[in-house]
Amino acid sequence: MLSHLFIARFNTAIRGIVATALAVLAGCTASGIVTETSQNFNSRISIVVIHHTTANFSDSLNTLTKPSSRPVSSHYLIPEPDDSTYDKSRLKVYALVPEGERAWHAGVSHWSGKIGLNDQSIGIELVNQTYCHTSTELDGATTEQPPPRLCFFPDFTDPQLELLVGLLGDIQERHPDIRPTDIVGHADIAPDRKIDPGPRFPWQRLYRLGYGAWYDDETVIRYWEQFTQQAVSLCNVQSALQAYGYGIEISGVLDEQTRNVLRAFQMHFRPSKVSREPTTDTVAILYALIDKYYPERLDELLQPSAACSGEEESDEESEPETELLASENSADLTISVDCAVYDGAGLKKCFLQRNTG
Ligand SMILES: [Zn+2]
Repeated sequence: MLSHLFIARFNTAIRGIVATALAVLAGCTASGIVTETSQNFNSRISIVVIHHTTANFSDSLNTLTKPSSRPVSSHYLIPEPDDSTYDKSRLKVYALVPEGERAWHAGVSHWSGKIGLNDQSIGIELVNQTYCHTSTELDGATTEQPPPRLCFFPDFTDPQLELLVGLLGDIQERHPDIRPTDIVGHADIAPDRKIDPGPRFPWQRLYRLGYGAWYDDETVIRYWEQFTQQAVSLCNVQSALQAYGYGIEISGVLDEQTRNVLRAFQMHFRPSKVSREPTTDTVAILYALIDKYYPERLDELLQPSAACSGEEESDEESEPETELLASENSADLTISVDCAVYDGAGLKKCFLQRNTG
């Protein structure tokens, strides 16, 4: 409730500013401006981008609000309980940039054919102290690949999610054009550069609480059965990822950009298996999402893709799938948290327990 109060006050302040501006305009009316409000307009906000900060509350607030050589910001910041740098007794949403203004949170980005998403999105940062250890054994300067990284992803807490859900409810009311598929992570809109909010962000729980997109298991099973019999071409997988919203070129090749988009997709929808490979279950989930949210695209995406001509080939040896295991290069992710000690059915059970608990 306090968070709602805080945001309500922030919005009241904004309304006050708008009212003042209108009063000034009213004054202008006498000098030649006539106001005739059109019914034909909508909000410029159509996307919500979720981030994690990788830093504690105090450092995050400083970074997002103070001038620097590389200034960044977000519209909202959600603290974390048990953070010693957050000294309030109850968690509150911090509003840092008015929704009508551009916060600098998205960077070079792409979603659903739109680019430069600072113009049309709301950015929400959650304090979450994810961190990565970079290998000191290999000198990155002497190899083509960056040195390997080992990343740790702490879970998001229930109080944070409660605040987030309340905030999303308010945002959705103010900007009704935001579709379920347009509530995304930073990694979804910038898969070559970003991994936040990471594989521990509970997208499925958020969906059950009314926000964002998720698939229906039965539909996934249907496509999984179908694709087990007849695999989908990589061109079609790329086309389906693009149809869902990802900024991906249809190359017909399992190149780095495709692996990065697959990583973002798997972190969002298949967090128990982030392999950067177009596995049958990943593709079945992708088509189940298309089936649910873009059914008009299905026929075309199930036909041999016209986007690729000639034989498909991979520029890399296919690697065996790994269950959240260590990577060959920094683009891969390793999860070293409770569930990672399980394997096979144990891993699945672990994630099921966590996601439904
Ligand atoms: Zn981010």
